[in-house]
Amino acid sequence: MISQLNPGGVEAKAEALLCAGFVDVVNVDDVHVVVDCRSTTSDTTHRVRCDPNGWTCSCTAGTHHRRCSHLAAAQRITAPPGQRRLRPTTENT
Ligand SMILES: [Zn+2]
Repeated sequence: MISQLNPGGVEAKAEALLCAGFVDVVNVDDVHVVVDCRSTTSDTTHRVRCDPNGWTCSCTAGTHHRRCSHLAAAQRITAPPGQRRLRPTTENT
């Protein structure tokens, strides 16, 4: 099972998605993260979510609890509640 994982490949794809501007943060609140990620190979948009149960993605790999490139991309630009180093603020800096 572990031999099927390819972290380098997932991370490289995640970088490509981010560089292409294919990743949009839809919503971040105290308990959720919602990120939309366009596919590089089709017109599909995959939705990555983080809730108290963990991260999920709507793509085939994500629904089988594998760490897909969409999820990896979302994790690079967002942090789940409780792991955020900075508190969101409404004040201008
Ligand atoms: Zn996915």
